[in-house]
Order: sequence, then structure tokens, then C-alpha cells
Amino acid sequence: MKENNRRQFLKSLAGLSGLAASAVPGMAIAKKAAKKAPVTKVRDIRLSKNKTYVRLVFDLDKIAEHSLFSLHTPERVVLDIKDTSMSHGMVDQLAANSLIRSIRSGVRNGNDLRVVFDLSKDVTPRSFLLAPSGKSGHRLVLDLHNKKHTTTTKKAKKRDVIIAIDAGHGGKDPGATGRAGTYEKNVTLQIAKRLEKSINQQRGMKAVLIRKNDRYLRLRERIRKARDLHADMMISLHADSFPDPRARGSSIYALSVDGASSETARMLADKENAADLLFGDIDLAVDDQMVKEVLFDLSLTGTIESSLDIGSEILSQIKSVNRVHKKRVQQAGFAVLKAPNIPSILIETAFISNPREEKNLRSASHQKKVAGAITRGVGKYFSRKAPPGTWLAETATEHHIEHGEDIASIATRYKVNQEDLRARNALFAENLRAGQVIKIPVS
Ligand SMILES: [Zn+2]
Repeated sequence: MKENNRRQFLKSLAGLSGLAASAVPGMAIAKKAAKKAPVTKVRDIRLSKNKTYVRLVFDLDKIAEHSLFSLHTPERVVLDIKDTSMSHGMVDQLAANSLIRSIRSGVRNGNDLRVVFDLSKDVTPRSFLLAPSGKSGHRLVLDLHNKKHTTTTKKAKKRDVIIAIDAGHGGKDPGATGRAGTYEKNVTLQIAKRLEKSINQQRGMKAVLIRKNDRYLRLRERIRKARDLHADMMISLHADSFPDPRARGSSIYALSVDGASSETARMLADKENAADLLFGDIDLAVDDQMVKEVLFDLSLTGTIESSLDIGSEILSQIKSVNRVHKKRVQQAGFAVLKAPNIPSILIETAFISNPREEKNLRSASHQKKVAGAITRGVGKYFSRKAPPGTWLAETATEHHIEHGEDIASIATRYKVNQEDLRARNALFAENLRAGQVIKIPVS
């Protein structure tokens, strides 16, 4: 801080005390200067910023009481730390930024430390204490949140992402049959219903079944239904079969423009498509044939990337409940996957032709595990790629995890529901780690 600024600072600080006294109840009673030296020392101040807030971390040698308030025109945030001292040069080392014009510090009531932040705009200040953890000692954290960002996004009600669940086969088309007589159409419907339930337990996600009972639907009708439901994603559930009963494991397929990417995929595509024609109908509101083709091509390309992305998220979750047949997401030309603009994947949950997997496919507990794994994969994908306008796409602010913080403390701090916090970040069972950035959902 330059001498000129320092003088100005001292002047405004004198004025501030009066203002503060009227702004904060209880502060009007100025205590007489204590004789003893302040108990707590500020060892260091660290500043970091991201899109939505500027964070200041005060490293303290002991725990200290503090209070915080804002003053307007000009915008200021005042932080008072009780019975604390700080060396004079400490705030000067902090570089000014687009939000903080200057930082000033002074002694108040004899032993208390007052830090004043001169700001370029109105913010929502938040502060909290962190207990020592690892190499870090006591910390007082002050976050200056961008106000525009936190208030405007809170108002509008945001829609859920819609996941269309397509239970493979049905009615006159039983699909593959296991050695013990299990029909693919029945296990796919059972898993679909469990998946629907599991997805609907997550905030921000809504599952809809393409078929709710044992009925035959042409592939084209399935695509049309998904489109009518304005689905953001379509998941087709199937069970694999192979002449050799030893074949086992789950596989996931995404659409490929060129059709099958492997021999197995080709065989599969032929088999699954046998019930219907290969192409879904595509409606584009333009007359120019070339424009139509280009648009179709573009929409398909974008959708395939998303489909592969969803596929790998689910595959990495499925690994925990079942062996995977192919380590990567396969690409095939399934007609059911040809739904432009709806990222779609097909899951061969297991081999119905493998006696052990056939048993698993019929087991309620295994079906639940599969449904849970798919839900986690879908959640992980949408926590990154939710369509604009959905609750999952909205973030009030981002939060950088510090040592010692957990879901409960963050939920309390931002006044959000713990479950919402988990849903927004697809944190299903994981613990938080320092340095991790999580999204704070809009309430
Ligand atoms: Zn099938």
C-alpha cells in the first residue's frame, strides 16, 4: 500500500467505525483498549479466485472469533477478527484484481483486527473457520461471491433431464432365450423398471419407460416415443446370447455412422435389427436436400460423441457389478440407436446364453445392482453435460474443497440439501478430497 493510500485508509477507517457501529448490533459498545497483546496472529493470507468468487484464506495460529458485514456505495466488505494481530505489510502483498480494488487493515477496540475490502461491485460475502488438518492450521476463509451469479439463477424453476428407458423386445418378439428358459424380453423389462425407480430417486433426473408391459413395439416406434417424450438420453436394455455358453459379461454400444466397428458388433446389429427396418425416420424442417444431409450428419456426429461419453461412464460403473465383455464402448449400426439428437446407447447387460449370467439376470438383487450402476453412470455424465435449462446444468457457484470439509459442512454453509449436493456432483459414495471443485446447486 502506498503512503497516500495508507493515509486515506486511516481516514476512512475512522469513518468506518461509526458506520459499522450502526450497521452491526452489538458493535456499538466499543471496549476499552486491552492491555495484553492480541492472542491470535495472522500468519499468512492467500488469495485465489474463480469465475464466481474470490477466496481469501487467513492462516491463523489459533482459533479466533470473527464477524463480517457489508457496506454499500462504495461497496465494501468488513471483516473483524477478535483479539488478533497481523503484520502491517501482509495485506499489501495481495495483488488487486477486478473485484478487490484495495485491502486495508487496522486495529479496532485495542486488540481486534479489522480488514476492509474495497470492491468494484456488490458481492455476497461468506466466511467460515476450518480446523487444522494435515499441514494446514486454523484457517478463516472469506469468500466474496459474485452477486449477479447467485441471485439470477435461483429464481427460475429448472426442468429435469429426461432419460428414456427402452426395454428390448416384447410381446411376440421374446428376444433371446436362456438355457433355463428365460426370455430376454422379460428380464429387460424387469431391469428397465428397476432402472426407472433408481433414476427417479435422483434429483434432477426423470426416467420414462418406452414400454411398461409385455408388448411388441417396432424399433421406429421406440425412437418416436423417445422423441415425443423430449428425452435427453435413451438407454436400450438387452441381454446378449452366443452359441458358446462360456461367453459372458456386459457390453455397451453406441451408434456408428459406418455401422458395425467389430465383427461381433456386426453380428449383433443384424440380430437386433432383424425385427424391423434399419432406419428411423428423420424430420428436418428444411427443403434443401444438401442442407438436410449436412444437418443430419452434424446432429449425428454430435450425438455419437455424447453416446460414447455416456457409454464409457456407464461401463466404468458396470465394472463394479459385472465382468465386462468388451473394455470399450462398441459402435454398431443398431436401428434403435439411430435417433438423431438423442444420445443413445444399448446395453447388453449380460449373456442370457451363459447359465450363471442367466441366473443373475433373473435375480432381483443383481438387477438392482445393474440398475444402480447405470444410474451412477448416467449421473456422472449429466453432472458434466446436462442440457442448458435443466436443474443439473445450473450451478449457483463452485466450491473448492479445503482440508477438513465434508458434504454436510458444505451443505450447511450454502444452505443446500446434502442429497442435492450429491446429485448435482454425482457423488454417490465418494468422499471429498482437498482441491476438488464441486458445483453448488441452485436451490
Ligand atoms: Zn436383444
